[in-house]
Amino acid sequence: MTDRLILLGPPGSGKGTQAHTLALELRLEHLSTGDILREEVRNESDLGKQARAAMEAGKLVADEIILNMVEERLKKGKAAEGFILDGFPRTVAQAEGLDAIAKKLNVALDAVVNLQLDDEIIVGRLGQRVSCPICGKIYNEVSNPPVVPGVCDIDGARLEKRKDDTPEVIRRRLEVYHEQTKPLEEYYAKKGIMIDIDGDAEPAEVSNRILTALSSFEQA
Ligand code: AMP
Repeated sequence: MTDRLILLGPPGSGKGTQAHTLALELRLEHLSTGDILREEVRNESDLGKQARAAMEAGKLVADEIILNMVEERLKKGKAAEGFILDGFPRTVAQAEGLDAIAKKLNVALDAVVNLQLDDEIIVGRLGQRVSCPICGKIYNEVSNPPVVPGVCDIDGARLEKRKDDTPEVIRRRLEVYHEQTKPLEEYYAKKGIMIDIDGDAEPAEVSNRILTALSSFEQA
């Protein structure tokens, strides 16, 4: 069983959407460091206050803060049985930290799904992204709009644009991805657990591609 997964990929490659679907399909806990941080910022917690400036500038929050936050969550509840990590790790130091946490918890990472998408497509997608502040559902105003414009299909909440989805911050986030997160492809390829997936398709098609690749990976 592949029940300890990482979703790797640039911002806007569909990690959040795919992690949500896979978590339901494979009954895994979905841990999104971005979602956790946004909630901390909304609650104005100490952690939120520490993270906010970096997030709004499109930079990464300090590795130590992130690693503590992830370790705490991996220890408890459903995550102890299986998880899908979305938006983490994002640096080699975080990947090494995750290896240390996994060792402590006596578990192994099964697979890393690497969603691939060109920067030009990403800039377009992120500019059209809106999401529900209550349930986290993500929409694209053009290719995957809600039934009623601006309103969440699930709970009727008013959809919001993320503060970091402005053209300038999107560019910064992509730079950060290429500099700091891209090296993880090599890190996990060396471990033999990387699965590359072309993310340029409708969400349901990308989910199919991932599930098919995971099942052949399991059988290999
Ligand atoms: P995301 O929703 O994954 O795009 O994350 C939004 C923002 O939260 C990022 O641009 C970072 O500022 C911060 N963030 C999320 N995950 C991490 C992480 N693993 N390491 C550092 N910063 C993170």
